[in-house]
Amino acid sequence: MNLHHLRRRALCTRLQFLPATFYANICATLALVVFLGGLRPDHAEAGHVVFVKIYVDEEEATTDQVWKARLTERVRKASNIISRYTDVKFAIVGYGRWSSDNRIQDLSRSLREFEQEVETSKERIAIGFSSQYKFQGGRAHLGGTRGPMRHHILIRENAKSVREVERLEVLVHEMGHFLCAGHSSSTTSAMRPVVGDGQARAKSFEIGFDPVNAQIMRLVGNEMRDRRVDRFEELSPATLKKMGGQYLKLARALPEDKTSIRYLYRIRSLLQFGGVPKKTLPKGSDDLLLTLPRK
Ligand SMILES: [Zn+2]
Repeated sequence: MNLHHLRRRALCTRLQFLPATFYANICATLALVVFLGGLRPDHAEAGHVVFVKIYVDEEEATTDQVWKARLTERVRKASNIISRYTDVKFAIVGYGRWSSDNRIQDLSRSLREFEQEVETSKERIAIGFSSQYKFQGGRAHLGGTRGPMRHHILIRENAKSVREVERLEVLVHEMGHFLCAGHSSSTTSAMRPVVGDGQARAKSFEIGFDPVNAQIMRLVGNEMRDRRVDRFEELSPATLKKMGGQYLKLARALPEDKTSIRYLYRIRSLLQFGGVPKKTLPKGSDDLLLTLPRK
């Protein structure tokens, strides 16, 4: 698989670096600090818990104590937001480091490196926070995952002007993708194509999801909870059909974005689902653009 292919497949968060403007950035990790041991049975009764291990690369500038506290809190908040919509929580079960190649300046390649170096397992995902390279202007990926329910999420952490609340929203966005959410035309949804638009900085703004994606995540969460579904292909035909209807809504409302169409095609390949637009997927990335709010 060549680099171009990888880039096209990466579902991502991007940042548009505008002159004299700010960033918006990033995503992060998950959740409640628990130990791998004893909590699983209790959580299993209450809902599904996705276990998370948080990673930083060797460029992380702060001490272990500082970055663990920062990312743990971010994941906890993101999990709390998501659990308002679906019966899923994210629980941190460990921390680690991986070594990133200093020659890589591209998030798609960084994601592939992260996938190769960091193991995941059923019910345990990995969220990496890379400080490998700084934003140099132009466009840059902020975070990405290979697709819905994929177990690696990579976030770029090296953007000093991005506020923590914006990083939180990007994390929520990527975790939404993990739960199969697609990009939304809703101007306030965490799944909107442009999340670094300054909204999250307002005290009155509440990070959350649009009703269509809320429905998708609820369906997926139910399957995770009831059937321990771990991969997109394992979702039941009935659920996939319902999700297909929701993706059609998203795609029609946001025709320039490819995410929901891509998910629809996956469902069609699994179910021969009807009603999927026949048009060919445009070439290029379906990455999320995060524009930078002005100061
Ligand atoms: Zn996205």
